[in-house]
Amino acid sequence: MPAKSKLGQNFLHDASAIQRIAAALGDCSSHTVVEIGPGRGAITHTLAARASHVLAIEVDPELAAQLRAELPPERVTVVRQDVLDFDFTGASTAAGERLLVIGNLPYYITSPILLKLAASHSALDRAVLMVQREVADRVAAAPGSRDYGLLSVTAQMYGPVEKLFTLPPSAFTPPPEVHSTVLRWRFAPRFAELGIEEADFIQFLRQIFAQKRKTLANNLRAAGMAPAAVTTALAHTGIHAQARAEALSVESLAALWRTIKTERAASPGEAAHPTTNSLL
Ligand code: SAM
Repeated sequence: MPAKSKLGQNFLHDASAIQRIAAALGDCSSHTVVEIGPGRGAITHTLAARASHVLAIEVDPELAAQLRAELPPERVTVVRQDVLDFDFTGASTAAGERLLVIGNLPYYITSPILLKLAASHSALDRAVLMVQREVADRVAAAPGSRDYGLLSVTAQMYGPVEKLFTLPPSAFTPPPEVHSTVLRWRFAPRFAELGIEEADFIQFLRQIFAQKRKTLANNLRAAGMAPAAVTTALAHTGIHAQARAEALSVESLAALWRTIKTERAASPGEAAHPTTNSLL
């Protein structure tokens, strides 16, 4: 069966990389593992021997049928489905535990998959994911670095991300045009600890990272916040007036959002211009 490039089919054939990816998940002998995009089963066969049970979610009907024929059904359940429609919460409830996730991701939907996992965080314990190297650099980036931005803060709000190792295109058939990096993401959301509400804060992040070239203050004003309120909020949080969101830690951004909410509650109507679709 030829690989379908529109489904991001680059199959891993490097045996030692397969073992390292499976090992990165840690002990899964008493856990259910969800594999995203099992493909021809490179990782699935190894997982079948290590995990209590594997749910392998594959969108390609031909590959799903082939996997069903090859893998022991008592150890691996092959689900023919788009992973973006997969119910992680339902699967976690059925398994009676938080799930482990693994996948050499189809790169054309990396961001939607990461957002889906973030939205399903309460059903998940940890994930080991292969993504394009540049995406891994952004997801795991530290404040102030070139790669730090909305993707980094959003992912790291749901738990720490580590870059484990990088593979060259030659580890895959057919070889992709990019290098690939394996990430480990442990789900431990920080919203309660930082005193912020999840949906509000994620929307606030979208507004302050809206335009990379603008300062944080300009992005806040562009999102509809009154100039005087912007100056006050930055001063109260100890953030420089010319700072960019890309320079600030998750803790500083959370402190800024708490300040804005407190000031808005103290003087409702003064903090924002009457713009639509704005939190501020
Ligand atoms: N795990 C295999 C490996 O490492 O060799 C295959 C990885 S390949 C990069 C990505 C796999 O994801 C392909 O098998 C592809 O058919 C599958 N896929 C693509 N889009 C998908 C989707 N929306 N939902 C589930 N699987 C998908």
